[in-house]
Amino acid sequence: MKKICCFFCLLLFSDRVFCWGFYMHEKINYHAVFLLPPQMMILFKPNIGFLSEHAVDPDKRRYILAAEGARHYLDIDHYGMYPFAAIPRDYKTALRKFSADTLQAYGIVPWWIQIMMGRLTKAFREKDKEAILKDAAELGHYIADAHVPLHICSNHNGQLTHQQGIHAFWESRVPELFAESDWDFFIGKALYIPDLSDFIWARILESAAAADTVLSCEKEISEHFRPDQKYAFEERKGKTVKQYSTAFATRYETRLNHMVERRMRASIFAVASCWYTAWVNAGQPPLDHLQHDSLTISEQKEYERLNLEWKKGIPLGRDCD
Ligand SMILES: [Zn+2]
Repeated sequence: MKKICCFFCLLLFSDRVFCWGFYMHEKINYHAVFLLPPQMMILFKPNIGFLSEHAVDPDKRRYILAAEGARHYLDIDHYGMYPFAAIPRDYKTALRKFSADTLQAYGIVPWWIQIMMGRLTKAFREKDKEAILKDAAELGHYIADAHVPLHICSNHNGQLTHQQGIHAFWESRVPELFAESDWDFFIGKALYIPDLSDFIWARILESAAAADTVLSCEKEISEHFRPDQKYAFEERKGKTVKQYSTAFATRYETRLNHMVERRMRASIFAVASCWYTAWVNAGQPPLDHLQHDSLTISEQKEYERLNLEWKKGIPLGRDCD
């Protein structure tokens, strides 16, 4: 019996854990396209497949670049208590105060989003089609990660409170169960963001404030479910994996007042608004006749390398979960 238990423990959440899950990152970028004005839609809509597919490149890059991991999270509680006034919102000031090593160790997602916004704005200004699509796809990833409460919390996989697996539960299992059938992605229009730093840090603080609820609700509901009700064994890609059950996930998302859906909708709005803001800040260049239509050989090689290393499957640096 003990052997059987160990076997299933090994299989527990054995799918590799990615931020928001690959599926949700693709969906967030996909839905963000429909919030854009027609002047942007003319480029983004025909390339919606690229923007969705490459939403996950930053996670793949964690397999070839050790510095990549820190761009996906911020262990904000390392720096004190809400509202974390001790953390300089500006990257250079934060660097001077805490050193590059410390920032790298505890995560840099709010600052990295601003760096990516700079890259996307430059790409728009230079009317470089491939750079616009690549930077937009990847920017969408980091913005979405910043909306996940457990990305803004040092107890990022419940490892400090015996809740291992909660990360993938919140950001992959719950959306995969409910997004297609129950969630509403009619969100309206992208808006111009006058102060990007304020906007990003507001999202970061929302995520930080929600992290306790994400963890405490799982604990609370667990008291009402026997282990055989809390988990279910399912076939996934030819393997038996232990998952949170649909009944548990339903109770959890209801108890959270649909937080996962709300954070996903907020992610979509933020991604579209950041794309739109970068375009406006670049002077609203016309996007209908852009140069650089196909991948160069070196760009093609970079994508191939990303996929190859990711398939080998050994992330460098801290795992995202
Ligand atoms: Zn990520």
